[in-house]
This record gives sequence, C-alpha cells and structure tokens, in this order.
Amino acid sequence: MAGGITNYSDGDVDLLSGLFAANHSTGFFICQLDFPLEIPQNPGDFEIDQLLTNMHVTHANPAFASQYGAKVQDVIGLTPAVFFRKNPEEGRDTMRELLINNQLSRITREYRLDGEDVFIKGEYYALLDPQNRIKGYFGIQHDVSTEVKDERLIKEQIHLKSITEEITQTASFEWVVGSQLGEFSKGVYSILGIEQDAKLNKDLFFNLIASSDLKKAKALFKKLAAGKLKDSFVLEIGIKRRDGNRRNLWSKMTPVFDEDGNFVKIFGAIQDITERSRKELLTDVIYKISEAAIELSDFKEFYKTIQLEIGRLVDANNMFVAFYKAATDELDVQYVTGESKRFKCLPAAGTISKLVITENCSLLLDNDTLLDLDKRGKIKRIGKSSKTWLGVPLREGNEPFGVLVVQNYERTNALNEEDQALLEFISIQLVSAIRRMNDGEQIEILRNSIQQSPVSVVITDKKGDIEYVNPKFEEVTGYSFVESLGQNPRMLKSGNQPESVYKELWDTITKGEEWRGEFQNKKKDGTLYWELASISPIKNPKDEITHFVAVKEDITTRKRMEKDLILAKDKAEESDRLKTAFLANMSHEVRTPMNGILGFAELLKENELSKEDFDRYIEIINSNGHQLLGIIEDIITVSNLEVKQLKLNLSEFDLIGFLDNIRMTIEMERKFLSKEHIDLVFHPLNSPIKWIKTDHGKLQQVLINLLKNALKFTERGQIQLKMTEDSPGFGTFQVTDSGIGIPDSMLGIIFDRFRQVDDSNTRSFGGTGLGLAISRGLVELMGGEIWVKSTLNQGSVFTFTIPLN
Ligand code: ADP
Repeated sequence: MAGGITNYSDGDVDLLSGLFAANHSTGFFICQLDFPLEIPQNPGDFEIDQLLTNMHVTHANPAFASQYGAKVQDVIGLTPAVFFRKNPEEGRDTMRELLINNQLSRITREYRLDGEDVFIKGEYYALLDPQNRIKGYFGIQHDVSTEVKDERLIKEQIHLKSITEEITQTASFEWVVGSQLGEFSKGVYSILGIEQDAKLNKDLFFNLIASSDLKKAKALFKKLAAGKLKDSFVLEIGIKRRDGNRRNLWSKMTPVFDEDGNFVKIFGAIQDITERSRKELLTDVIYKISEAAIELSDFKEFYKTIQLEIGRLVDANNMFVAFYKAATDELDVQYVTGESKRFKCLPAAGTISKLVITENCSLLLDNDTLLDLDKRGKIKRIGKSSKTWLGVPLREGNEPFGVLVVQNYERTNALNEEDQALLEFISIQLVSAIRRMNDGEQIEILRNSIQQSPVSVVITDKKGDIEYVNPKFEEVTGYSFVESLGQNPRMLKSGNQPESVYKELWDTITKGEEWRGEFQNKKKDGTLYWELASISPIKNPKDEITHFVAVKEDITTRKRMEKDLILAKDKAEESDRLKTAFLANMSHEVRTPMNGILGFAELLKENELSKEDFDRYIEIINSNGHQLLGIIEDIITVSNLEVKQLKLNLSEFDLIGFLDNIRMTIEMERKFLSKEHIDLVFHPLNSPIKWIKTDHGKLQQVLINLLKNALKFTERGQIQLKMTEDSPGFGTFQVTDSGIGIPDSMLGIIFDRFRQVDDSNTRSFGGTGLGLAISRGLVELMGGEIWVKSTLNQGSVFTFTIPLN
C-alpha cells in the first residue's frame, strides 16, 4: 500500500491546519470518518458511497471554502458527495482511486454550493491509524477552472475546425507576404495532394496550377502583392496534382493590411470543387442533350450535339450510333465521328456492338480485355482498334435495338464506370429523342396532309366545340380558323334538314361509331352548299372519347350535276313523250285535211255533178288545202325560229285596215267552226295613231293565232281584241275570251313547242301545239313580250306588247 499519512493522530491535524490556514490560493481541508474503516480488498460501489457520504469536512481554510463559493463555516460538516452531486460517477471514480492508492493527484470537475461547476486540481492523502485503517483524508487543492476551460475551448475549436473542414471540404490558410510561408490547415495538403510535411510555398503552389490557369493566377497574385486588391476575391483554378489527377479549386481570399496600409498577409479558404464542377457539367451536358432532343429535328445534328457534349465529360476520340437489323444481321450506322457523308450498313456478326445487343448490357472494355477477346476469336474488330471501348445498348422497353459507343484509340483505361453510367443515361435520352423525332416526323406528315387536304377537316372537343379547322374548311365555309375556334359546327346549319338527322349523328358518334351522310350547310355569306361528311370519334388509350374529327367533301357541284342530270333525263323523257304526242296529233292534223282533199277530189271525177256540188267540192278542197298549208307553214316557222333564220320585215301600214282584214279572217273562221253565236268585239282604238311600223305579216300571224285559239277554246260568250298605246311607241294587244281557261300549272309551259293542256289522243280540240310557240317567237323577234292570265272555266287573256315604230 502506498501513500497516505500513517500513524495519524489528532495532533497532526492541528499542525496541518496551521500550515494552510492563511494561504490565500491553496485550499486545504481534512475530512474524517466517524469511525475508522478497514481498507477493503476490492471496494464495490456500496463501500465507496459509504465513504463519500459518511466523511465530513472537519477542517478547511478560507481558500478551500471560496473554491466552492462559500465561507469556512458553510463547508464544515459537508460530505464529499456534495461536491460531486451532479457527477457522482466522477466522485466514485476519484474515491475508488484514492481508496486503492491512498494518495491521488488529479483534476476533477466538482460543483460549488451555488451549483456552478468548478475544476479542482487536487492532491489527496489518506489518514491512517496505526492499524492501517482509514480515518479520513487530507487534501490541498487549487481552482483551475480558467485553465481547463481555455484548454477545452481550444480543443473544441480544433475539433470543430476539422469537422467543418471535413463537412465543407474547405481548408484554410494564412499566408504572410515575403516570408513565403504561411499557416495551412491539414485540408490544404490533402486538397493539393501533397504530403503533410511538405514545405508549402508560393513556388510549389504555382507549380501545381494547371497550365491553362497559370497566367490568370500569376496576374492575380501580382496585383495582390502590389496592394491593388483591397477586398475579398474569389479565384477558381484548376490544379494538376503530382499523381496526375486534375482537380478544380475554389478559393476565397481576404487581403490584410497594416496600419500604414501595407499589404501584410492573406487569409483564405480553399475548397475542392472538382466533383461539384463535374456534377454541374453533368447537369449542363444532360440539359443540353435534352434540349437538343426537343429542338433539333435533324438526327445528324442531334448526334453531333451528343458527341460534343459527351466530349466535355468523357475522354473519347470516337463515337458512333448504330441500329441492329436482325433480318440481315447488319449494323445500320446512324452516326460516326467525323463521317459527314452517308452512313452505311456493316455486317454485325462478331462485332462488340452485336455483343452489347445480344447480351443486352453495357460493355466497358480495356485494351487487355479487347486483345484477349480478339485473340480468342470472340470478337472481330473492324476499322482502327481502340484502346478502351465503351458501348451501351439502346432499348425500346427492354428490347435492345441499337448501340451507342465511345472509344479511345490512344489510352487504355481512358473510360470508367462513371462514363458508363453517363452513357447509359444518355442512351435513354437518345431513345426517347429518336422516338420523339420519329413521332414528330409522322406528326409533321400528318399535319401537312391535313393542312393541304382537298377536303375540309374539322376537329372538335368531346362537347363538339371546334378546336381545329384546316385551310380547305376556311375556303369552303368562309369562316377563318380564328372565327371557328370554340364555335359549334351547328353554325353551318342551313335549317333545311330535319333535326332527326343531327340526333342520329350524335347518337352514332357518342356511341363511338363512325357516321357518314350528306348535309346541306350554309356558308358565312349565306350560300348553301352540300357536303358529304364522315364524322368519327377520337379515343385516348383508355378508350375514352376525347375529340371528334369530321372529314367533309364539298359535293355541291356533284349534287347540282345530279339534279341537272335528273332534270335533263326528265326533260328528255318528256320531249320524247311530246314528240310522240306531236306525231300522233300531226298525223291526225295532216290526215284530216288530206282526207278532205283526196275524198272530194275523187268526187269531182263523177260525170253528173251539178255546178253547185262542183263549186262546193272545190271550196272544200281549197279550204282543206289551206289548212294543210297552214300546218306546213307553222312547222317551217317553228324550225326557222329555232335556227334563228327568220328576219324582220318592217313596213309602215294603216292600223285600221289591218285590223279589218283580221276581223274578216276570224269571222270566216267563226263561220267555219259554226260558232256564229260568239260575239267578236274589236275595241275602237283609244290612240290617235293610225299608222304603225312593224312586220305586217308577223303581227298578223300572231293576232290570228291568238284569236283562232280563243275561238277554238270558247263555246259561248265573246272574244275581244283590244289595242292600246300605254307608253309612247309601244303597242299593247290583248285577246280576251270567255272559254275553258287554262289550269295554273300549265300557264308557264303552253308557250313551249308541242305543249297542249290536253295532249292525249282522246283530246277534244285539234291543233299541233305550235301556235303559241310561234307567237312567242315572233313577238320576241319584233322586240316585244307575251304573257297570259287565265281562270279555269272563265276564260283567258293573252297580252303582248311590241314597239310600233
Ligand atoms: P294548239 O292550239 O295547236 O294546240 P297552241 O300552241 O296554239 O297549240 O296552243 C297550245 C295549247 O294552249 C292549246 O292546246 C291549249 O291547250 C292552250 N290554249 C291556247 N289558247 C287557249 C285559250 N284561248 N283558251 C284555252 N286554252 C288555250
């Protein structure tokens, strides 16, 4: 057993107390047990706690008391446990040591009576009785709080600094001008890649700077030394470490000046930003490639961009992209560095590229592996042999369809896993760009075909509001693209089609089916037009209708042609029927007088024929002959009118005499038809004109035609002829009868050739249907107009006007 004060007696206590009583800085104390304690062999926590709590301070000087912020009387009677009340473990530990060694010198953290901590550096000795039992302890101690705390602070600061350096990867330095020496934190050495004990000075530093940045750095330091830089500044430079590793550094420096303004030193922080700049570069490269994928529409340009961007990060002298054609086992080369002309297909068998495709994985091969694979016949190398080869598959889904390869011809190990990861990323970008560009090309073709389509195309949303119309639509409807947007195609409705058509249309297309049909629509300017439409829904991959597309062909011309064709057909059929009716009539009209002529001419042959009969027969033959001649003349006139062969033969003649002649002719006709009961009223002229100038024969022919018709279609009542001069130089002739009249439906056509109200072969009135056609032709030839008004069973009024001079 070592240490301790043996054979301790109470007299010793007084001696010790006297020694330390007046000492101001050295604390002194004695604490004693109530009864002596055998020193245990192996003291447990229980014995130690006994000691700590059963010993009492019996002697203490003021220095001791003040170390605990108290007066002597306050500390007398306290147990050691009080001083370790906040850290009993440290108390126990100290006590254990003391118990074992009987003497201890150490710094402990204890607590003042006011609760503040205090660091005590103490020397303690056990007080032993003659039986070597412990009676208590004696100690001298100093308050070393200030020293301990300062030291801790420094330690903490050092620790903190290294932690900060580690976290921020920032090292610091202080460089004194002129001395070529400075203070450098540990990090500076590792950032610069030099040994901790290397002598770091300006020359060494400049030696490390990458040649590309040397000029910049030297210029800056020159300026600094000349005191021209007053504020903090940032310097970014590349360095080349001794192991060849290139790093990018960021440094912020603050120049310090003395009282006279002389530049003394710089404080600086330095950071290795290689990874960050690579990451930034990577982000930039990825961004540029993604941007090119969206913006470029030319594949070659796109591949060139990829190559350029990859070159910023990857040490390769060649890049190529090829698609694999399984059918012919060929590589369809899309791009090769430096190859500006057309690309070609190469046999794929045995190439490393094919290996990438068949294995569906990236391959990063160094020179040795390449040589080995070549030697073992695993691969066939085409073109210049590379020292490092890196290829990644281009995949659609998980199916490889091509490769993206970079190679370095000079350096083995030029490419690494990081490059592989980058290339794999780019391959995904590339595939989606290829897909997008292919889609884009197809969309462009589709867009152009819709834009240039000769039929209208309208796309609406699912509500039917227009989202797109093509130029043909604009041309056909007159509504511009902008005017049409957001409108409903019902703006084109003509209103000529039943609502049921539109209902059927919507029912069909909302069911997801195509509707086909014809519409009559209205253009912006109100013109009607016909279109043949096919309207179908557009669905998304979830089979939901998102849009409708209508493809519509303007069929107005076709419709008109159809209509014209039907009309022409009807007309042809009608004129065929008319011709038949005409021929039947004609044969009747010709035969009747011909029979008369032939029959009575036969009778003339008889010998005993009275003079009376003879004259009568001759008269009949004569009249029938005239009738026949009339028919023939009519036919000739019609055909002459038709070929516009009739000429006007103008002459001036006496109107009264002219009308008298006509009246005589009509009276003869009335007699011939045995219709003497019908009155013939020729109104006296209300005009002073006596002489008129026109075609005498033609005017006569028209008036006789109209008057004969009037007689023919009238059974009772009267027939009137009226002539007026309503406007100077124009004469109006009007023939009115009280006959059978003409149905409204026939009024428009009786002036056409061969037209008769009754053209059946059972008709009761004779005639060829040429009279009115001739009349109209002649009136128009004379420069006038003819029309009719009629009431069925009441009579008709035929009116014409002609110029009279
Ligand atoms: P046609 O008298 O030889 O039949 P027209 O050309 O003179 O030929 O007349 C055509 C048709 O017009 C007649 O067949 C008849 O049906 C109708 N028509 C002409 N004049 C009259 C009239 N005054 N009253 C009733 N019907 C008439």
